[in-house]
Amino acid sequence: MSQKQTQNQLETDQLLFEEKPLHVPPLPELQNVIQGALRGNFAPSWRACVLEKIPHTEPRCALLLNLFLSQGAPGQVLKISAKQRTGEQNFIECIRKGLEDHYGDRVVGLGGIFLIKKGAVHQHVMRDFSSTPIHTDEEVNEWLKFYDMPAQLNAVGTLVTKEHDLDLRLQHFHSFSFSNWGGHYHYDTTPDIVEYEAYLNVAERVVRVDKPLSTHKVGRD
Ligand SMILES: [Zn+2]
Repeated sequence: MSQKQTQNQLETDQLLFEEKPLHVPPLPELQNVIQGALRGNFAPSWRACVLEKIPHTEPRCALLLNLFLSQGAPGQVLKISAKQRTGEQNFIECIRKGLEDHYGDRVVGLGGIFLIKKGAVHQHVMRDFSSTPIHTDEEVNEWLKFYDMPAQLNAVGTLVTKEHDLDLRLQHFHSFSFSNWGGHYHYDTTPDIVEYEAYLNVAERVVRVDKPLSTHKVGRD
């Protein structure tokens, strides 16, 4: 630094410091506001999705839940890998139908986790509850919000080969990621490069809570 610059600099105590507090909105709120601001100037940002963590002190679910319960103890599990999909069935459907073909009326249930290690998958998240009644699969799909979400995704859930007179959803896996993505798994959209890896265990019994008095098959996908 030259001699001249040093002479021109003000001492710190000669500077006028003024401080004002700033409004600090929560990040999800900011995200919404910014996306709203961008909407008028850019193509629809339909890919935008926000994944938030619910605190452990706040366990909750909406509508329905398929849980695989275990004691959490270490032990042997099934490891299943698959890549490059050549057929029409999704990963879980393929496992479930294979089991059903083999075991027939002996109902088998599995649960655990599978990873989508490469590629992308078609998944939905739920919007706020519909203000009008939903009667058909088309209306369900209109209401749900679908995204093609990139790997890596980690999906947890259950499958069972038959309903066992319990009015069950036969397969149900929800994924999370360590990025922004998460949702209800439907199928992969990248058959050539997709890679799955599952760690599953076999269930001893199935417990149905609060079986509806009248039922339907809408939205079981
Ligand atoms: Zn779901």
